[in-house]
Amino acid sequence: MDRERRIGQRCAGWLLATSLALALPGQSAIDRDAPTVEGRQAAVRLSGFYDPARGFLEATARLRFTGQAAERPLWLANELQLKSVSGGSMTLPPFSSDSGEFVVQCPAGGELVLDYGGRLSPGLQPLPAEPAGKKGADDCRILSHVMDYYPHPQGDFMAMDVTIRVPGGWSCLGSGVQRSVANGPGYDEYSFSHPLCKGMTLVFGRFRPLGVLAGEIPLRLYGWKGIDFRRYYVESDMAGIAGFYRGRFGPLPVPELAILFRRGEGFRGVSYSGLLVLNVDRRCKGVDPFDRETALETSLLAMADPATDLLAHEMAHQWWGGVVSWKQGNDNWIAEGLATYSSLLYLRQRFGEKRYRAACQRLRAGLERYAGAAVPADGAKLKVQFRDPAVYQALAYVKPALMLVELAGARGEDEVCRRLRGVLEARRGRSLDGREFLDLLADGDPGMRTWMNEWIFSKTMPQYPDKKN
Ligand SMILES: [Zn+2]
Repeated sequence: MDRERRIGQRCAGWLLATSLALALPGQSAIDRDAPTVEGRQAAVRLSGFYDPARGFLEATARLRFTGQAAERPLWLANELQLKSVSGGSMTLPPFSSDSGEFVVQCPAGGELVLDYGGRLSPGLQPLPAEPAGKKGADDCRILSHVMDYYPHPQGDFMAMDVTIRVPGGWSCLGSGVQRSVANGPGYDEYSFSHPLCKGMTLVFGRFRPLGVLAGEIPLRLYGWKGIDFRRYYVESDMAGIAGFYRGRFGPLPVPELAILFRRGEGFRGVSYSGLLVLNVDRRCKGVDPFDRETALETSLLAMADPATDLLAHEMAHQWWGGVVSWKQGNDNWIAEGLATYSSLLYLRQRFGEKRYRAACQRLRAGLERYAGAAVPADGAKLKVQFRDPAVYQALAYVKPALMLVELAGARGEDEVCRRLRGVLEARRGRSLDGREFLDLLADGDPGMRTWMNEWIFSKTMPQYPDKKN
C-alpha cells in the first residue's frame, strides 16, 4: 500500500524549520456556526490503556459505518495484534501482507468491536525527536493517527471518541475536544471527542495547562514546567491569527483549539484538527524579531519571524487539512500551498502591504530557482525525488500560494478568499484530489481553470490573463 495515503492531514511542519485563567476542559461554548455531523462516513469509539514509557497499548475499538453492508477494508499497525472481533466477520486474515490491512464484513448500522494490543515500535513520530537526554529539550510521545494505532477505514473523515488511561505522572492531549480528566489509583483517564476528523492523535508527556486565551476561537495552552510561552509569542497575536482565519475561512469543526508548546531546537510544528504541537526554540531570547533572526537561520518559507511563521502555518492547517483534506500524497500541495497562502494573508493584515510584497518577492525568487525541476502535483513524491528539501518547499508550498497571490492581484483578495471559503463549505469533512480542488476553486470559470492547471500541473508560472475583470 502506498504509505503516502496514510499521512492524512499531517503537516511536514519540520520543513518550516528556519529554521489567563484556567478553565475546566470541554467547557467552551459550542460554535453556533459549526457544521453538523450528518456528513460523517463512519464513527470510531476507542477505549484503552497506554503506557508511553513502554510503548504498550491495549484497547477496544467500536466502529460503526453508514451505508450498505459491505466488505470494509481496515488498517491497524502491524505491531498490534487483534485479539477478538465481534459484530462482523473477517474475510481476510489480518496482516496477510506487511500493509496492516485486513477486511471485515460488517452489517449496516451494526457495531464492530475489536480488541487488540501490543507494543508500537518507536520512530514514527512526526516531530523529529531531540537527542536523548539533551539538556533543556522536552520529551513527548505521540500516537499519531498515521501510525494506525486503532483500526480504521483508510482516509475517511469520521466521528471519534477516545478514552485513554495512562500511568500516573503522564499527561495526555488529543486532537478534538477534551471532555474529561479523571484520576484513578495509579492512573489518569482522559477523554476526547471530535465530530468529524480524519483521525485522532494523542500526545503524551509531562506537561500542564498554562491557561486559556479568549478569542473567537479560544486557545487552551499547555507546556512543561518552567516554560514561558510569552518569550516566543504575544498573546494577542496568537488569538488574532485564529480569529483572522475564522473570519476568512469560516468555522472549524471544533469550538476551541489546544496548543502544546515543546522546547527544542528550531521552530517546528505539527497540526492535528483541534491540536497544535509547536516546538519553540529554547535558544531564542525573546519576542523581539532581532533576537530571533540572530539566533536562527532562515528558510525559503521565512516571512515574518520563525515563531509567527510557524504558528500562522500550523494554524492554517486547522482549515487546510482539518476541514478539508487531500486524497493522495501527490495532492498534499493543497494543504501546504493553502497554509502558505494563508500565512501571507495574515502577514498582509498584521504587518502591512510593504511586508506582504517583500515576502511575495522573496518567495518568488525562491520558486524561480526550482520551478523547472518538477510540478506541485508531484506533491509528497518531491520529498524523496530530490535530496534538497527546498525543491519540495518551492513546489508544494510556495508555487500554489503564489498562484493565489497572482490571482488576488488580478481579481482581488476578497474574491480569492470567497472562492476558498466556497471550497471549504462545499467539501467539509472530505478529502480532495488536486483536480477536484481546482474545479471547485475555478467555480465554473473555464479560463481560470485552465490557467490554474498550468501553475499546478506544468512547470510554468503564467500571468493571469484577464486583469481587467
Ligand atoms: Zn504544513
